[in-house]
Amino acid sequence: MFDVQNLGSGYGDVQILSDLSFEVGNEILAVLGANGAGKTTLLSTLAKVVPVREGSIAWQGQDVSATPAYELSKRGIAYVPQEGNVFPNLSVAENLSLGALVGTRSKQERLDEVYALFPRLAERKDQTAGSLSGGEGQMLAVGRALMQDPQLLLLDEPSAGLSPLYVDILFENIAQARKSRNISIILAEQNAKKTLEIADRVLVLSLGRMHLLEPAKGLSMKRLMKAYHI
Ligand code: ATP
Repeated sequence: MFDVQNLGSGYGDVQILSDLSFEVGNEILAVLGANGAGKTTLLSTLAKVVPVREGSIAWQGQDVSATPAYELSKRGIAYVPQEGNVFPNLSVAENLSLGALVGTRSKQERLDEVYALFPRLAERKDQTAGSLSGGEGQMLAVGRALMQDPQLLLLDEPSAGLSPLYVDILFENIAQARKSRNISIILAEQNAKKTLEIADRVLVLSLGRMHLLEPAKGLSMKRLMKAYHI
């Protein structure tokens, strides 16, 4: 479905990612690693915010290595960056509606689904996005991406800065969204323990290289941490 081969990217003269190869099917693939390991760079490269330097990315059998970001959203790939994915002066409902600019189903049908998944957003639909708490803001960012009716969702550290209670709620929502919509999710995270609870497979990055790619079930923290520090 989503096929990454020998991917390399970076910023200016600095190479950050090297030789990453993996496929993503109908699953939650977690991307884990220490601070600076390259998780955000990987998601930004997959979302085409950072250009592909080496290797290739294919989506549904077609090479998208040079496809611009806006075109990917039309093709069913939604990206939620770590920050800045909502318009603070617009209401929750307006932010969600903007997500429905791509896709074919009616806006109302999609809104109803997102509100069912995140009742908190329904309660605050007329409030400005800028006045939401950190956790509610993350729910809105994920909800807005789901409004695009994506088949692949790229989530960059959605739990960053959230209290444990909100992390629990958000992760439950993410797992629920995957099940009810049958979509693929690539989830970059710092919170390894929580992520293992919802991920199907885990990819560990260290210094921009891949050091582990295996099922989450049965993966011990000891083995995981060893891959972090190679
Ligand atoms: P964290 O968990 O702390 O968010 P990460 O695993 O997401 O880290 P990245 O943010 O991808 O890691 O950073 C990987 C490396 O790329 C780091 O050394 C970082 O300093 C560098 N880097 C990130 N963004 C830029 C940029 N715009 N220009 C130059 N270097 C950058």
